[in-house]
Amino acid sequence: MMADKLMYNMMSRQTPNILVVEDEAAIREMLNYSLGRAGFEVHEAADARQAQDMISKVEPDLILLDWMLPGISGVELANKLRQANRTSRLPIIMLTARGEEDDKIRGLEAGADDYITKPFSPKELIARIHAVLRRTSEEAQGDILEAGLMKLDTIGHRVSINNKPLELGPTEYRLLHFFMTHKDRVFSRSQLLDHVWGDHVYIEERTVDVHIRRLRRALESFDCARYIQTVRGSGYRFSEQI
Ligand code: CA
Repeated sequence: MMADKLMYNMMSRQTPNILVVEDEAAIREMLNYSLGRAGFEVHEAADARQAQDMISKVEPDLILLDWMLPGISGVELANKLRQANRTSRLPIIMLTARGEEDDKIRGLEAGADDYITKPFSPKELIARIHAVLRRTSEEAQGDILEAGLMKLDTIGHRVSINNKPLELGPTEYRLLHFFMTHKDRVFSRSQLLDHVWGDHVYIEERTVDVHIRRLRRALESFDCARYIQTVRGSGYRFSEQI
């Protein structure tokens, strides 16, 4: 989906900051090198204690956490991080030499967002890191969308205006969600069909007009229909500006 790519591109411009927690210096160096080349800012820790210090210092965007660490294990550290308020949503990818399904499940239960088995290619690891960062940035942004007095709760799928609930059909909800994540841009009917209905569905473009009309009608009583603007010859745009 285009929305996801846009959000992630915006985020990735800030150079994601990765903390590598691994006791073997050679692996740490290899990771530092390949992640650095891939454009990440990299920090290192050799054990759980150092990791906790580094987390407060550098506030990483993601942790690559080795399962087998001296002292506090990777799984224990993952558990601790999940329990602490400040790090409860910090993305974690577990690194492990084990390929057992049980361990994978234990790692994920401990709160890891993903899991990669040694030996792995840097290319695969980097792809996983991008995927986890993309997913978690969406989740972080995925709470409440706002436009004026209108609020859309992406988790509860509820819409309200000035704290009064707004009843919408599922298609109108998806349409509004799409508009609220893509404000001030014009979309043709066929683009809206692709984004809101899915690109493998064949529906006539007139259908878009029908749902736009329904959405406007729902918004009208709250004086918010003006957000959905017709751009003659092009399509529709959602904007708080008139
Ligand atoms: Ca290790």
